[in-house]
Parts: sequence; C-alpha cells; structure tokens
Amino acid sequence: SNPNTKLVVSSACSGVTNLLVELANGVQDQTHRSEILTKLAEIHNAVLDQLEDSTQAAAEVYTILDTVTSLAEAASIQASRKLTDHLVACGELMSTHLLTQLIRERGIAATRFDIREVLRTDSNFGKAEPELDSIRQLAKEKLIPLCQESVVITQGFIGSDAEGNTTTLGRGGSDYSAALIAEAVEASGLEIWTDVPGIYTTDPRIAPKASPIPEISFSEASEMANFGAKILHPSTLVPALRHDIPVFVGSSKEPEKGGTWIRHQVESSPLFRALALRCNQTMVTLRSAKMFHAYGFLARVFEILAKHKVSVDLITTSEISVSLTLDQTDTSGGAPQLPEAARIELEELCSVDVEHNLCLVALIGNNMSESKGYAKQVFGTLEDFNLRMICYGASPHNLCFLVHESVSKQAIQKLHTELFEG
Ligand code: ASP
Ligand code: MG
Repeated sequence: SNPNTKLVVSSACSGVTNLLVELANGVQDQTHRSEILTKLAEIHNAVLDQLEDSTQAAAEVYTILDTVTSLAEAASIQASRKLTDHLVACGELMSTHLLTQLIRERGIAATRFDIREVLRTDSNFGKAEPELDSIRQLAKEKLIPLCQESVVITQGFIGSDAEGNTTTLGRGGSDYSAALIAEAVEASGLEIWTDVPGIYTTDPRIAPKASPIPEISFSEASEMANFGAKILHPSTLVPALRHDIPVFVGSSKEPEKGGTWIRHQVESSPLFRALALRCNQTMVTLRSAKMFHAYGFLARVFEILAKHKVSVDLITTSEISVSLTLDQTDTSGGAPQLPEAARIELEELCSVDVEHNLCLVALIGNNMSESKGYAKQVFGTLEDFNLRMICYGASPHNLCFLVHESVSKQAIQKLHTELFEG
C-alpha cells in the first residue's frame, strides 16, 4: 500500500529454509526425504491456493521443487557447501514467484528479478561476502532501470560468485541482502517487515513490560544486533550506515502497530535504551605467572587464536590473566568450542579454563562513559547475582557482563524493572 516502494526483497516462506537445510545435510532415509519434500510442496500450495490465477506461479514453483528433489538426492550421496547453497537458495526462488503473482493480483505492476544477476559475492559458500563495487555496477545496469517500470520483487539471502555458482549470505541473511541492495540503488529508505513490531527495550517474552522504541540511533541498534537481539541480522545496518539510509523495522503481521526507525540522528539519546541477552557463551580464562611485567603474552595468545581461526568477542584482563568469550561463527546455535589444537598450544603458554552455560547481558545506551552514578544503580540491582566477566568503557554505548544461564532471565527482569519501568 505504500506507493514509494519500488523494490521488494523477500525471504523464503516460513519454515522452508530449515527444511532445505535438512535436505542439504543429506537425508539418507528415502521415506523421510519424501516427507520433507511433501511438506515443502504443502507450504507453497497453501499460498498458491489463495491466488486468483495460480497457473504460472504453480508451474514455476513445481519446476523449482523438481530441482530441490534432485539436489536432495545428490546431497544424500555427497553433501557439500556448494550444493547446500544451491539447494537452500530454492526457498527464496520459490517465494518470489508467489509474491510477484500476489502483488499483481492486487493491481500493481510487478516484475520478478533473479538477484543472482546483481548480488555478486565471493565463493565462500554458506557465508559469502558481498562484492560491493560489482553489486553497485550491476544494480545500475540491470536493477535501477527495471524499478522505473514496475515494482521489482527479488530474493534476499542469495547471490552468485564470479563463476555463476549460487551462494548465500548466511542464515537470516535476507535483511542484509535488502540493505546491500538499498545501498547499491541508493534507496531513500529501507523497511524491514519481520515478525515483531519493531525493537523493544528488551525481549517482551522475558520482561512483559518491555516497550517499543520508536526511534533509535545506528550505533545503539548495531550494539543491540551484535549483542544478540535477534531482530536484525548483525550485518544489516552496515550498508545502511555507510550510505545513511534510514531503516524501519515493523511487523508484517501487525503493520498498524508501527515500529522502530533507525537513523543517524535521533531526537533523544537516553542513558539507558535497551537490554539484550545472548546465551550459549563460552568463556576462556588464561592465566600465567609469566605475564607479570612481561610483554608479548597477549600477542602470543592472540597469535594462537588467530592461527586456529578462533574469533574472540569480549575480553577483560588483569595483570596475570585474561578472560575472553568466543564469537558465534557458525549457524549451529550451540555454544562455540575452543578447538582442541588451540587449547593444546595455549597450554604450553598458560593455564586454560573453559566455562559454558553462561549468558551475556548487555545494557545499551548513550554517553555511558561520561555519566556518573548509574553504576551503583545497575550493580545495586544485581547485588544478589554472581557477575562474571564485566566489560565496560571501550564503547560509550554499552556495559555488559556474564551471568550463569540459570539466572540470566531474572537478571534481565530485575534490570528492566529498575531501569526501564520507573
Ligand atoms: N531464508 C533464509 C533463512 O531462513 C534467509 C532469511 O530468512 O533471512 O535463513
Ligand atoms: Mg528469515
């Protein structure tokens, strides 16, 4: 209903990518494989059934489902990351056929566009990096002219490398795609219609009194995305920030509820804006008496971590020890592991302690480093909690710490009541 919308980037239908990922991992049991394929057909049929004229969209969807069937069979013999990307891309390729027809039936001229012609990436299947210069050039040649004629419907999440292989940007990557495309076509705004009516002061499932935030700055929103608020893919804001494109987040199911605008300049910059919770944290503590007055210890530690491709998230140090948390780099959702080879090498240097079942609580706000007195309020509220690693000072926008998983929700609830419900 917004006449300013020129380009729509769509994700797959709900549940589809998960099923495709399962197939891509290789389903040996043929009966189970057919069950998944039937489920995929059902999800798409449910939408096709609601179209006035589904002939063309149905034909297109069924052709893609045939491809899914043969790729699933290939994956059951030998799975690979390249094959996975080809297979999981089918979700967005199908949903965009449905959406194009649906929009046409609402009386709007719409064209479906295969974004693989524009969204050029490297060949890192499963988590491909976009190649910005090529994307901009290709968008100028192929996408912008098309947007002038009709509304263009295209796929999120997927792209292609220089050889024309299908790639994906990682789970949840549709938001990121939309932002990359908005940047490439120099859009005046980017709206993300998801399943929540915007960004809240914290997850309302944890604190029922959490309230919607009408407007938030890029820096605050990036901190929230990085600290686990699962509303936006963490990379989404990067292209929008680069080109200063305002981003709106709202619910496609309840558009009338409004949402959150994320902008460069915002009217208010409160000390406390939101609370985020991220569980499945792995904390590694390294201790060495040799660190005392020594130099080069941290350099050695990070050299070993880099060699084993261990990505570090937070870090605090004391004279003879350093604690760090490991970054979640894969899509498994489980706690990140310290690779055994890295542990062995680190143990030659210092003692190594690994702890699991920890959650990261992040308090997001503004000018924290320049404000006084609030630490007492924050830590006073948490006096009954055992706080592990505390990180503060490197960013004016956050203060965060680890607590045991069993009390993490309680910590959020207490802080929310004290800092946001007053
Ligand atoms: N369909 C993809 C996924 O489920 C991308 C997305 O939804 O953003 O991960
Ligand atoms: Mg999605």
